[in-house]
Amino acid sequence: MTATIHHTLATVFGFHEFRAPQQEVIERIVAGEDVFLVMPTGGGKSLCYQIPALHRNGLAIVVSPLISLMKDQVDSLVANGVAAACFNSSLSADEARRVSLQMEKGELNLLYVAPERLMQADFLERLAGMQLSLIAIDEAHCISQWGHDFRPEYTQLGRLRGLFPRVPIVAMTATADPETRKDIIRQLGLEQMTVYVAGFDRPNITYTVLPKHKPFNQLETFLAGRRDEAGIVYALSRKRVEQITERLRSAGIVAGAYHAGLSDTERKRVQDAFQRDDLRVVVATVAFGMGIDKPNVRYVVHFDMPKSVESYYQETGRAGRDGLPSEALMLFGMGDVMTARALIENSNNAERVRIEIQKLNAMVAYAEALTCRRRALLSYFGDQRDHDCDNCDICTNPPRRFDASEHARKALSCVYRVGERFGAGYVIEVLRGSKSQRIIDLKHDRLSTYGIGADLSAGEWENIIRQLIHLGYLVPDYSRYGVLGLSPAARPVLKGETEVILGLPREPIKVAERVQKQ
Ligand code: ADP
Ligand code: ZN
Repeated sequence: MTATIHHTLATVFGFHEFRAPQQEVIERIVAGEDVFLVMPTGGGKSLCYQIPALHRNGLAIVVSPLISLMKDQVDSLVANGVAAACFNSSLSADEARRVSLQMEKGELNLLYVAPERLMQADFLERLAGMQLSLIAIDEAHCISQWGHDFRPEYTQLGRLRGLFPRVPIVAMTATADPETRKDIIRQLGLEQMTVYVAGFDRPNITYTVLPKHKPFNQLETFLAGRRDEAGIVYALSRKRVEQITERLRSAGIVAGAYHAGLSDTERKRVQDAFQRDDLRVVVATVAFGMGIDKPNVRYVVHFDMPKSVESYYQETGRAGRDGLPSEALMLFGMGDVMTARALIENSNNAERVRIEIQKLNAMVAYAEALTCRRRALLSYFGDQRDHDCDNCDICTNPPRRFDASEHARKALSCVYRVGERFGAGYVIEVLRGSKSQRIIDLKHDRLSTYGIGADLSAGEWENIIRQLIHLGYLVPDYSRYGVLGLSPAARPVLKGETEVILGLPREPIKVAERVQKQ
């Protein structure tokens, strides 16, 4: 089978190698399994359903939200000799009849439809009488209200699994937000599907986080060596943007300010000047970036901590689109955390507050990471790596390390014993043998792991658990209060087959002495 999908890749699409994880995804779909594929735009998701559509019998239905997107896809497939068509409101009556006929005769391999059209009763009825090879759902995040592009017509797609129980479904999105992804899977009723996350790594970006201390000076120092390079400095408020711009100008650095409080004309002027390389530094709020496609941005500085890891990833991702070495620097101070928390807690939507706080906590955890930043970042998005990157501040200037295998084993087995149903705070209480009423009510004081971590403080455990999350041994469910679960990588640790080496906090805290004494 592998040979034949390779053959199709070469003869139909003219490519000679699959990108990871295209081949595996295609094989699964050809075998009739459901797949959830998360890859950034341009990563190569389309081939993952187009090739299976040519290797399974019947018609492949592709759900796509925009008529223009459908048309592009269909045109390029037809140009490659694939029988594809779209069915939407832009077709004339004649064209629609022709496509219908092709469908009935089994002449089509792929049919692109808008979700509202697909879910119309008469259309579903016609499909029920046909053999379908697969159903692909493009831009699947449109089904989630947590996503940035919710479309009510997508919610109907949750019925597909029930309507076509034997047809493999492949859902695709470029969204980096784990929250939204869980919601997509839940809404589609596809809890058993295999999830693939790939293509999020940006190897040419060097990640650095500096403790915030006299940040204006830190920024000036950073910029001093980069006078001729283009870069973006992000700050959280308009006021701050103005302040930074002033400071830079008085230090002789030509900088432009960009935020939503400026006139359209002024914003356009700044954006154009930056695009043309007339302006090297733009100091901006998050309002800056949409629609900017500048390949040679050499650095992105976060003067303030962003509110989520997704925003951080998206904003730093504007550096180095040309593939050349680029810098992502974040200044991080506890004050930022307080400000962000206060802003979030202002909202009166309790559910929203809960989620935003979780996201903020994940961001803080990243900023305080003692493990490779890239691994921490990618692991947040579900892309677990087993090697450090050698291209971040932690890798090039590592903290002192200690063998935490024993601690890791205790923590992981405690997570297991409490049934993977509690967050870090509770797990730590059990480890430390707390006599809280909840623990006693749940009889967790009878667990074999109760009290086995009494030698470390809660803060020390928190640190260890955070690193176990970054390294991908523990997986928090941010949609459920950060409930901790075990990843497959935890097994060999529990069995004592793998060592776990963790970083010691830079400020000397007691864990260092205790570990060394042992
Ligand atoms: P996505 O849907 O993830 O945004 P596409 O499927 O449109 O991305 O693919 C982006 C580009 O990458 C397209 O030009 C596509 O032809 C190309 N591409 C995809 N897979 C491969 C491959 N295995 N080898 C070479 N180019 C590929
Ligand atoms: Zn690293």
